[in-house]
Amino acid sequence: MADSGPDKLALRIDDIGSSSKQHLYYTKRWYTNWGPLRDRRLLGHWAPYREMSVNDWRSVYKVLEKYGSKLTVGVTACWVEDDGTLVPFPEKFRNEAEVLGEGVTKGLIEIANHGLTHCVLQDHKYRRRAFFGTNRPYHREFWEWVPAPEQREHLTRAQTILTGYFRTPITTLVPPGNVYSRATLRICKEVGIRTLNCERPTLASDAEPKVVGDDQVLPFHDREIVELGVNWLEQRLQSFRVPPRLFIRDL
Ligand SMILES: [Zn+2]
Repeated sequence: MADSGPDKLALRIDDIGSSSKQHLYYTKRWYTNWGPLRDRRLLGHWAPYREMSVNDWRSVYKVLEKYGSKLTVGVTACWVEDDGTLVPFPEKFRNEAEVLGEGVTKGLIEIANHGLTHCVLQDHKYRRRAFFGTNRPYHREFWEWVPAPEQREHLTRAQTILTGYFRTPITTLVPPGNVYSRATLRICKEVGIRTLNCERPTLASDAEPKVVGDDQVLPFHDREIVELGVNWLEQRLQSFRVPPRLFIRDL
């Protein structure tokens, strides 16, 4: 991501309320994807890490206000418990939902749909722990092989939970893991999604939703804030001549 081009640039955080931060095991070093080494954060494992706190969010808002920046927040509408039960985000993380509501009211954040579950639910594969390897493929939600009716159910339910709680139209979809299909694009239209943002768009639609790549978006995860602190975000914003001032929905 270049630090120029301030005109059409948005900032995005992902994985708010996503249980992948508990269930996913993955490391860039394949040889540490081995059972006994799996939970050692020192070896660069992605998870587990905690959900952001109310204080984390207040600090993020302060930084956004200081730099006149805005942030699109990818929220996963349900937390997936170990037994496969889905708990809506506003129930599972009531305080965090409240502080996000404050951010929406202040005009500092846009809430985006980051899936219903962030993972596929079949056979509890999202928490399958093989002796060797990763379960990362199961921590994407809108694979081409996921039937359209199931994708429709997930997207509709996520929209209902998020618009119902935040009382604002949710018009941006950030598909988990940048994975989506033609069916996803079709269903976006049906459920009021007008912009889909992913790293490198492979499929586009004729009109809506508009598909936006990360050449216009600076993405990061709640993991950076939890593990590196809000200073990390401030340093990123300092590196821009003009900090990102648009929501993804306005790109
Ligand atoms: Zn994600």
